[in-house]
Amino acid sequence: MIREDICDLAAYHVADATGMIKLDAMENPYALPSSLDGAWCEAMKSVAINRYPDAEMYGLRAKIAKQEGIDADQVLIGNGSDEIIQMLIMAASPGACVSPSPSFVMYEMVSKWLHRPFVAVPLQDDFTLNGDAFLQACRENQASLAFLPCPNNPTGNLWDEAEIQTIADGFSGLLIIDEAYLPFAGRTHTQMISSNVMVMRTFSKLGWAGLRLGYLMGDVSVIAELNKVRLPYNINSLTQAAANLLLDHADLFSAQTDEICRERGRVMALLEKNTKLQLFPSDANFILMRLLQHDAITVFQALKERKILIKCFAQTTGALANCLRVTIGTYEENEVFMKALGEVMQ
Ligand SMILES: *Cc1c(COP(=O)(O)O)cnc(C)c1O
Repeated sequence: MIREDICDLAAYHVADATGMIKLDAMENPYALPSSLDGAWCEAMKSVAINRYPDAEMYGLRAKIAKQEGIDADQVLIGNGSDEIIQMLIMAASPGACVSPSPSFVMYEMVSKWLHRPFVAVPLQDDFTLNGDAFLQACRENQASLAFLPCPNNPTGNLWDEAEIQTIADGFSGLLIIDEAYLPFAGRTHTQMISSNVMVMRTFSKLGWAGLRLGYLMGDVSVIAELNKVRLPYNINSLTQAAANLLLDHADLFSAQTDEICRERGRVMALLEKNTKLQLFPSDANFILMRLLQHDAITVFQALKERKILIKCFAQTTGALANCLRVTIGTYEENEVFMKALGEVMQ
């Protein structure tokens, strides 16, 4: 009944985090500011739940477009950027889908679901990107679609702008620059948008992971074609109402992400004192580290027993071998994590 290759896949694993300090999924640790409580309830109350959602979402697209200085017709909205990745892979011309490796797993997973060839181009040992090597792999595999997460997940680094420009200039397929971690990075690539270069964003890491909302910016005609494979009511009414409200209060969320960036600096400086850790530079809201003397699975499990959930890459051979990834939490959460890490690494 079900395709054999689907039966052979491992399902995307989401760990149970009940009662845990949750530092595994790059969420913003802060709740919605309570100053918004009244407006939030009003917005939710105004939703006509008996009606289908606004399918075109012109108002929401216009609001996003205005912030970016582009037209509403240059914006496609998805149920999380994951859904946009799916639309792109569905709609791309025949040819491979290419991404660096290690990188975000969804590009490869969706390619497999849709029977599209996928090619992973290894990053260099220090996780830097060689634009020429990437372009060559695209050519060799007749790629029609390529993803570059800037900053990258799970490595956390932001590649040299010149390398990205090399790819933007030389690639003739559709290039998607995935800016999921823009709120922590301080460098955008919107100036590279062209007839075949697009920039993708999500509100998930900004603090609205529960809403499921992402968007893609690019050429009007490419957006129009992609819109044909978008399910008509992909964004529910509650999410639309919430986003319309929250976008008017962006300053509250940038205050939160500024705090997360400060905490990232503090946590990095403290972890750097631990000589049994190799730390990788981060422009995102998480830190990747390699354990130099301990077994990553053992440390991960010991933290889990102390009710701290992070991400373990121990089973992965190669570039991420014996690595752990921790999301930056609140000051208190980071303190609990660092104390526990120190203890379990005794
Ligand atoms: C988290 C993440 C996404 C997915 O975000 P959603 O909008 O929550 O689907 C996309 N790209 C990268 C690189 C990510 O890390």
